[in-house]
Amino acid sequence: MDISVVIPLYNEAESLPELTEWIRRVMEQHSFSYEIILVDDGSKDTSWQVIMDLKKGNEQITGVKFRRNYGKSAALNVGFAAAQGDVVITMDADLQDSPDEIPALYDRVKNQGADLVSGWKQKRYDPPTKTIPTKLFNSVTRSMSGIHNLHDFNCGLKAYHKDVVKSIEVYGEMHRYIPVLAKWAGFTNIQEQVVQHYPRKYGTTKFGPGRFIKGFLDLLSIFFVGKFSKRPMHFFGPIGVISFMIGFFITFYLICEKLMSIAQGTPYRNVTDQPLFFLSLLAIMIGTQLFLTGFIAELISRNSSERNKYQIERVV
Ligand code: UDP
Ligand code: MG
Repeated sequence: MDISVVIPLYNEAESLPELTEWIRRVMEQHSFSYEIILVDDGSKDTSWQVIMDLKKGNEQITGVKFRRNYGKSAALNVGFAAAQGDVVITMDADLQDSPDEIPALYDRVKNQGADLVSGWKQKRYDPPTKTIPTKLFNSVTRSMSGIHNLHDFNCGLKAYHKDVVKSIEVYGEMHRYIPVLAKWAGFTNIQEQVVQHYPRKYGTTKFGPGRFIKGFLDLLSIFFVGKFSKRPMHFFGPIGVISFMIGFFITFYLICEKLMSIAQGTPYRNVTDQPLFFLSLLAIMIGTQLFLTGFIAELISRNSSERNKYQIERVV
């Protein structure tokens, strides 16, 4: 099969007939063999009935229904697991993304060696309350991930080589960072394609203003976990050692000071009576704790199966 189109959806009943018909038209024009995987993320409207009806006249359609709303990332993850095509296309269900882009996206992956092609909604039909934070989000993600050629990390319209979707886990709100996950998994040929974007035709956005806070927290956790999950000691160790050394040197200084006073016959205070001594004790204890935390984290990560998920590109 050439193409799997994975579509996460939450309360998008009105758009689905138009969207699937549009995809079908494009696919038939180009004689692609394809499937459309519609993942109903716990919709409360009639989306699931619509999917069942669409499926009757169209064997290319697969429907997956969640028991409740787990979020776009979970929906994508399930779609990725089910996809059978050589190239996997994701798109939003709300007709903001255009199926007309599929052939060019497909070509980049199939024939031009791209692992992932991310859409760029250069001309975007969303309110400024969304586009401005999005610009900021993209520039921070660009510099933190080192993927400098992407302008629109969160674009719903993307194309993937099948190996990519089978190698990454999208959870939480990680759908905003899929190119970063792909890069870390070893898929470095990440490209961009300017895509058409339309205003939302039916309904309203399914993400509230909380999206930016969640997105930011995920940014912190993804970079933290991504960088240190395999070697937690590299994070906890240095901070622990520094804290320990600070405490140790303060104590050492206080002891030297006392000994010098004794030698010179001047009055002195006991080391343990000095306020600085408690500070140093605290630093020593915190340092030891951090070091041991790193040790435990290291033990846990060594036993987790994550550790051995390598991406083998070729065996000869
Ligand atoms: N979506 C989803 N689960 C959710 C929220 C959204 O599957 O919990 C789907 C939604 O139906 C749409 C896509 O994710 O197909 C993008 O959502 P939306 O259009 O609301 O986002 P925006 O365009 O405002 O960024
Ligand atoms: Mg939308």
